[in-house]
Amino acid sequence: MKFLFVHITFLLGILLFSSNTSGSEKSGGENNAEDAMVCYIQETKLSKEQIVNLIDSLLETDSVSTRVLDALNVKLMAIQSFYNVPMNVDSNPYPAHDLYQFWDTENANCYSPQLSAKDTSFTFDLVDTANFCGFVMPGKGPLTSPFGPRDGKMHNGIDIGMKTGDTVMAAFLGVVRVARKHGTFGNVVVIRHYNGFETVYAHLSKILVKSGDLVDPGQLIGLAGNTGRSRGSHLHFEMRFKGIPVNPKYMIDLKKRELISEAVVIKKTSRGFAIYPKGVEFHTIKKGDYPFKIANQYGITVKQLCEWNGITKKSVLKAGKTLRVSL
Ligand SMILES: [Zn+2]
Repeated sequence: MKFLFVHITFLLGILLFSSNTSGSEKSGGENNAEDAMVCYIQETKLSKEQIVNLIDSLLETDSVSTRVLDALNVKLMAIQSFYNVPMNVDSNPYPAHDLYQFWDTENANCYSPQLSAKDTSFTFDLVDTANFCGFVMPGKGPLTSPFGPRDGKMHNGIDIGMKTGDTVMAAFLGVVRVARKHGTFGNVVVIRHYNGFETVYAHLSKILVKSGDLVDPGQLIGLAGNTGRSRGSHLHFEMRFKGIPVNPKYMIDLKKRELISEAVVIKKTSRGFAIYPKGVEFHTIKKGDYPFKIANQYGITVKQLCEWNGITKKSVLKAGKTLRVSL
């Protein structure tokens, strides 16, 4: 990926330079081809690799039109600004580097609790649709096991029922951190995303990426399988923030297979992180409040209040703390 940025930065320099110097008289046929090329660049959703390949092929031709170069420059600028990577690529080589500080290609679980010890709350954009960096559900199949306690242990992800050989895709734009065989996870891929999260894809029959690969949302990364500690073919999918697994159902509508909200609020709790869609309302607990009273006040059910906040009907509420009270 570092190579890719160097490549893009280098080519950007060439293009900025050559766009001022190239351009000559064109015949009608050439103009049509030029129009088609400009239109293709402007209208098509191009991956970084496709843009680089396109530039490579253009550099091999005798002359490239100014309009084509301008269109490419606009696309490249959009990519640069989205990644927010300074021209000096060495200073920020991996996604969300300011949050994580280091990069480990061997261990899926490589972060100590110290990494999030001082955290309070953040707001994050999960996607950047303006730059075609959206979300794609990693596998086609039904939810077969939810996140949460299971058989006396914590199930840190969700299971998606898939057959061996079914395609597994990257959920968001990011860079592959780990792609290897692991005891429990079997063949596993871990991706660090530009939105600050990491995703884990476990029990794969085949891995089709390697550490350092830049992957688009929806890009094929492996095939589903039954490797590692697994009973039957499926995809085990985790979303983590700073190494701590979070429940994907607060970000992804698992039935509609789309994001609930393009932005989320992440709040540090005593047990990890709580995730809320951006715009959610909170109630500050006052003395004498109890779950039924608060639920009534906001027109929600006690069940919803309990589920959103990890409390029970009988929980004693501490004044001054906040509870989520809206979808
Ligand atoms: Zn699982």
